[in-house]
Amino acid sequence: MQELRYKTVGGAIVTIADDPQATRLAPIARAKCGGCRDFTHDYADEPDGGMRRLKKWASDHAAACRALPQSA
Ligand SMILES: [Zn+2]
Repeated sequence: MQELRYKTVGGAIVTIADDPQATRLAPIARAKCGGCRDFTHDYADEPDGGMRRLKKWASDHAAACRALPQSA
């Protein structure tokens, strides 16, 4: 999937991308904050379910997280 990125108020990036443990039978995506390292998982193959929840989490987190970006 194409990565989605949200910039937090602290200047870090929340990225939605394929989860490293995703499989063909269990396509899951992960939203992860590059500042505080908080993250969540949901189903990548549900545009109105999992992906909508991930986008909401990422956008809410980006609006609230003040952690500074960390190097990978
Ligand atoms: Zn964060």
